Amino acid sequence: MHDVIIIGAGPAGLSTAFWCDELGLDTLVLEQGEEVGGQLHRVYNPINNYLGLKARNGAELLECFAADVDSAEFDLWTQTNITSVDLKAKRVSLASGEELQSIAIVIATGVRPRELGLPGEKEFAGKGMIESGARDRERFAGQDVCVVGGGDAAVENALLLAEVCPTVTLVHRGKKLRARPEFTEQLQAKHCITVFTESVLTRIIGGDHVEAVEIQRKQGLKPFQLAVRGVLIRIGVEPNTQLFSEQVKTDERGYIAINSLQETNVSMVFAVGDVSNPVAPTISSATGAGATAAKVIASRLNAK
Ligand code: NDP
Repeated sequence: MHDVIIIGAGPAGLSTAFWCDELGLDTLVLEQGEEVGGQLHRVYNPINNYLGLKARNGAELLECFAADVDSAEFDLWTQTNITSVDLKAKRVSLASGEELQSIAIVIATGVRPRELGLPGEKEFAGKGMIESGARDRERFAGQDVCVVGGGDAAVENALLLAEVCPTVTLVHRGKKLRARPEFTEQLQAKHCITVFTESVLTRIIGGDHVEAVEIQRKQGLKPFQLAVRGVLIRIGVEPNTQLFSEQVKTDERGYIAINSLQETNVSMVFAVGDVSNPVAPTISSATGAGATAAKVIASRLNAK
C-alpha cells in the first residue's frame, strides 16, 4: 500500500513526486516510456520562459530536473504497462499481473499530438514526415514542404522551415489562422510561404518517401496535387485519458475537470499538468500543479 501512485513522469508527475517525497509521503511513479520527461523530449526549441532557468531545449531542462529527481527517494518504475485503473478503489493493474494499491492517485498522463488520420501519415514516418521544424530543418533544407494547422505550433514551424526550404505551403482548415500575431505578422515577410486557408490535406502520396500531397481547397473545388518532400502536421493535442474514461469527469474536449486544489470529482484522485489544463499547457503550470496536489494530499493524509 502506497500513500500516492502518480501515473506519468513528465514535468507534472515528477514535480508531484518530488513534493510528495519532500512531505514524507510513500510515493510510487509509474511511467510507460523508457525514460522520464514526457513532452520535454519533444521540445527542440530553446526554453526561455521557465522562471530562473534557461535551457537550449527540453532535454537540457530535463537534465536540471533529473538532478533533483535522482536525489529524491520516491519509487519510479519506467516501461510500466498499466492495463486498468480503478480510481474509486485506488487500484492499478499492470500487464505483468501485479496489482498496486494506494490512498491517493495522481493522473499526470499529459497530451499526445492529434493526428489527421490520413493514409500515409504513419507509413511515411521517417520517410518525409517532419516531427519538428527546429530539429529536422537541416534534413529538409533545399526541399519543398507542407505544414498543416493554423495554431502557434504550425505557424512557428512553417517560419522555421522557411529559413531553409525554397517553398513552404501552410494548409489550414479555418478561414483565419489562430496563431498569435507575433507569429502571423512574420508570415507576411516570408515570401516562400504560401497559406491556403479553408483547405484540407486529403492524401499524402509517395513510394519509399513522401513525394506529394493532395489538397482540397474550398468545398466544391477539385483537389490538386502539390509536389513536396516533407509534411509536418501540427493540429493540436489530445489528453491521454483512455485509462480513466467514464470514471472521472472531463470537460467537453476530454480534459480532466479539476478544482483549484487539482482535485477531480473522485475522492483522493488528482490530475496535474496538460491532461487537466487546456488553458495554460506550460511547464511552469505543470510543476506548480504538482506542488499543489502534493500539499493537498499530505494535508488530507495528516488529517486522518
Ligand atoms: P492549437 O490547438 O492552438 O491549434 C490547432 C490548429 O489545428 C487549429 O488551427 C485547428 O483549426 C487545427 N486543427 C485541429 N484539428 C484539425 C483537423 N482534424 N484537421 C485540420 N486542422 C485541425 O494547437 P497547436 O498545436 O498549434 O498548439 C498547442 C499548444 O502549444 C497551444 O497552447 C500553443 O499556444 C502552444 N504553443 C506555444 C508555442 C510557443 O509558446 N512558442 C509554440 C507552439 C505551440 P481551427 O482553428 O479551425 O480549429
